[in-house]
Amino acid sequence: MKIAIMGAMPEEIAPILKKLSQYKTIDYADNTYYEASYKGIDLVIAYSKIGKVFSTLTASTMIQHFGCEKLLFSGVAGGINPSLKIGDLIVATKLLQHDLDITAFGHPMGFVPGGSVFVQADKELIEIAKDVAKDLGKTVQEGVIATGDQFVHDAKIKENIVKHFNADALEMEGASVGVVCKSLDVPFFILRAISDTADTDASFSFDEFMESSAIISAEFIMKMLEKIEH
Ligand code: SAH
Repeated sequence: MKIAIMGAMPEEIAPILKKLSQYKTIDYADNTYYEASYKGIDLVIAYSKIGKVFSTLTASTMIQHFGCEKLLFSGVAGGINPSLKIGDLIVATKLLQHDLDITAFGHPMGFVPGGSVFVQADKELIEIAKDVAKDLGKTVQEGVIATGDQFVHDAKIKENIVKHFNADALEMEGASVGVVCKSLDVPFFILRAISDTADTDASFSFDEFMESSAIISAEFIMKMLEKIEH
């Protein structure tokens, strides 16, 4: 079993690389991929760079070029649901593109013909996450994650995303990764630790907590690997 572990920024995969005794570095398609073996599992690790386009490219490459059979995303997100505090984990049950807008033609937000508003994450991987949470005595919230090519730092935009999609958190890569995996029939899992609450002071909060939250998410993902059948 070959598993992809993906982040968007270097800080999101650094804690994972740190846990590995050795890895091989491969440059491909204008990005760097790391191959390693961890507890008998073959891993391909990469950060995509920020946003939907780069994350689409990286997810596709990990599956089609490197042959990954499952994909786990680890990273940080802005919290929308008030129950989510800095450092809390959220597991996506389903994701959507909040900035995909052809409403001018009568379509709902996030929808284009041939697609669907939501993409569902793999249920088995979510169950494994719940198991890991239980083992660690940690609370992991399940919820809807909204993805868009925008760092949201505005209460009004947040409200709009809630109105349309009832989302619990937002980020910039999850839904695009989900669409790739769904289309290529690869089970996927998106985990995020909260770095900010997407309002006026979000960029300051992000700068302060991104690294610590990225570690929380990465450590959880590593624990999940031990429970994934291979
Ligand atoms: N500080 C970075 C930019 C970070 S963009 C730089 O200067 O290079 C924010 C990243 O964290 C994205 O990868 C996104 O997925 C996630 N994220 C965290 N909080 C977010 C928010 N409030 N809105 C959108 N994405 C957010």
